[in-house]
Amino acid sequence: MKKHNFYAGPSILPEYTKEKTAEAVLNFAGTGLSVMEVSHRSKEFVAVVDEAVALVKELLKVPEGYSVLFLQGGASLQFLMAPYNLMGSKAAYLNTGVWSKKAMKEAKFFGEVVEVASSADANFNYIPKQFDTPADASYLHYTSNNTIFGTKVDAPEANIPLVADMSSDIFSRPVDVAKHDLIYAGAQKNLGPSGATLVIVKDEALGKIDRLIPTMLDYRIHIQNESMFNTPSTLPVFACLQTLRWLKELGGVEAIEKVNIEKAAVLYDEIDRNKLFQSTVPNKEDRSLMNVTFVMAPEFAELEKEFLDFATANGMVGIKGHRSVGGFRASTYNAMPIESVQALVDTMQEFEKKH
Ligand SMILES: *Cc1c(COP(=O)(O)O)cnc(C)c1O
Repeated sequence: MKKHNFYAGPSILPEYTKEKTAEAVLNFAGTGLSVMEVSHRSKEFVAVVDEAVALVKELLKVPEGYSVLFLQGGASLQFLMAPYNLMGSKAAYLNTGVWSKKAMKEAKFFGEVVEVASSADANFNYIPKQFDTPADASYLHYTSNNTIFGTKVDAPEANIPLVADMSSDIFSRPVDVAKHDLIYAGAQKNLGPSGATLVIVKDEALGKIDRLIPTMLDYRIHIQNESMFNTPSTLPVFACLQTLRWLKELGGVEAIEKVNIEKAAVLYDEIDRNKLFQSTVPNKEDRSLMNVTFVMAPEFAELEKEFLDFATANGMVGIKGHRSVGGFRASTYNAMPIESVQALVDTMQEFEKKH
């Protein structure tokens, strides 16, 4: 039976990415060697990084004066590298869930963290919109898509530079990079396998604080060495390049956003219509296009396990909700075809007929 992969991360990748990567595992760029066994400084691999950087800049319309890096350590290391490199004595954070909180925890090692607003009062099921940002903070950090709670945030209005964790929605919709000093994303949601982390950083924002920064954690070192200060995660970076090529071929971020909006609409419409289910995010404009979270309606709460089993038997994979929300989460990243979303909707409708 066809499997429909709704995992939150690591998650579905384009067939193109998997095929091209599989080929290169056996024979990379005509070298007769695996992409896993060539020097990262070989001309063939340097070309991979160069093209990936160029495609990131093209697809996200990255302005002049920004550097694109492929690092390791995941978004979780960026929680710490961001304040290490950019925070003076104070930084502002918008708290929209687990990942925001983890980012705040690391920033507290470096100075005063001002939580400008939080949606903790409602288990992070909405995005706070009205808040003041202290003008003397080095930056305002936000999580553009809350993978666990199924909400999304547009770049907040602020009088200071933005820093964004875009791990779970990078390349899913256009972003105004110029408003940001730093954007980072673990690869394993919308870009490639785990092991690579994309960083887009404004060159001018660096070197402004007098803190000493250990070599590996200093963005300037990685910029000077074009992501080759130490050995990059070569295989994941190769796979990321394939996804970037695939996305460009499809028409880029603007084109995929249309598909993402359509996929999300199909699923949210069914959740809102079907008497058995309800969304966990009441405010429609806050609903994520990438992670659709829903639960059984209260009067059908006892059917949760039965639906999970039914959906699994119908080929749905990875729809169990995160433990802090419960219910279900269907992740509909760029690589997911609308047919898989439709298959989930069909399953929900069949289940409704049974009850
Ligand atoms: C998955 C995720 C992370 C964690 O990423 P790692 O690469 O595992 O460190 C951080 N932030 C967001 C928004 C995520 O979705």
